[in-house]
Amino acid sequence: MKKRLTCIECPVGCILDIEYNKSRVLSVKGNECSKGEKFAHDEIIDPRRVLTTTIGIESALFNRLPVRSRIDVPRDQVMDMIRQVKKIKAKVPVKAGDIIIKDFLESGIDIISSFTIEK
Ligand code: SF4
Repeated sequence: MKKRLTCIECPVGCILDIEYNKSRVLSVKGNECSKGEKFAHDEIIDPRRVLTTTIGIESALFNRLPVRSRIDVPRDQVMDMIRQVKKIKAKVPVKAGDIIIKDFLESGIDIISSFTIEK
């Protein structure tokens, strides 16, 4: 199988031509450095994204709190996880980096605050 992707590891944005089968990447062309090969492998075999969204917060000043996953989440689980995360309501005070949900859905992934709200 073949796929063309743009590497997003740096602003150069190399266009990668990738050949792969079900279990591995066979070749990568068009990358100007080795990061492109790793990017191609990750995107084809195990694509992941940082989960970012907002949740409600009981605050006198703000209605929403931006949150994100501490580590990348399997791409095919991101939308379902966002739906589940949005059911949570945070309380003040909260600091950027505080864990809002530990081991979310037993995934081993923590959801953390991206913002500080004191009251
Ligand atoms: S292959 Fe290397 S140079 Fe090209 S976009 Fe990716 S990181 Fe940048």
